[in-house]
Amino acid sequence: MSALSYICGYGYGSNSDDSDCEIVPRGYKRPKLPTPDLSKVTVIPVCEEHLDDPKQHDGRTRTFPHVRGNWATFVYIKYSDEEGLFELVNNLQSAVVKILDKEPCQRCEDFHISLSKTAVLKYHFISPFTTSLQEALTGLKRINLSFDSVKVYCNDENTRTFIALKVDYSSNKSLQEITSKVDEILDECSLPTFYEDPSFHMSILWVNGNKKRELEDIVENLNDIVAQEIGKSLQNVIVNRVHCRSGNKLFQFSLQ
Ligand code: AMP
Repeated sequence: MSALSYICGYGYGSNSDDSDCEIVPRGYKRPKLPTPDLSKVTVIPVCEEHLDDPKQHDGRTRTFPHVRGNWATFVYIKYSDEEGLFELVNNLQSAVVKILDKEPCQRCEDFHISLSKTAVLKYHFISPFTTSLQEALTGLKRINLSFDSVKVYCNDENTRTFIALKVDYSSNKSLQEITSKVDEILDECSLPTFYEDPSFHMSILWVNGNKKRELEDIVENLNDIVAQEIGKSLQNVIVNRVHCRSGNKLFQFSLQ
């Protein structure tokens, strides 16, 4: 039994309430949990945002409320050459703005490729989760990442539409390998797994609401803009790390 499934039976997914305090019946002896080995995981503290003021984050609506003790967690790949794409993103943004009726089209912050949906973890669940991730990702090879087209995505809640660079066929296969491992871990604890048919991409622009139909009408035009930059500003990049963010903690896992 892995440390993760052990802790699943311990509290998460049980009827324990959502607060930080747990009530333990008198005389109940809690099983001793194995100490997770995080020696190979880099942990970088980052700032956590607690207030849900849409004005402070470009009008974005939080898709689930912040609850103390719940740690929003997701696994992703960080794109290393964000600055190199500055002009390409500007050109795409100009093309998108032309068809929107005065609505803002914003640049995404922190370009990344999601490898999981956002799962909500209890604090005591973070260590076993990242230990399992470390074990699962050990031995996986670094990825030669490239993009080949533009695709429009909408989030599950239909509150935001994204214009994204879709990864090419071979990158998709490599990313699928990582996601399958992450999904196995999530599945062990009945946490939401990634899409059945994952479409790996890097969102670069977003607009409020579901504007998929309008934006798909100009995808050909956006693809022409991208095609001109492939091999120039849009180069292959080597990915040698997978990241996991959980609340205010950032974990990095090395690929070989
Ligand atoms: P991201 O930039 O990774 O947050 O992705 C933008 C949105 O794409 C997310 O809100 C996802 O819900 C959405 N999405 C829709 N369909 C898919 C799919 N098949 N694979 C990955 N993401 C998807």
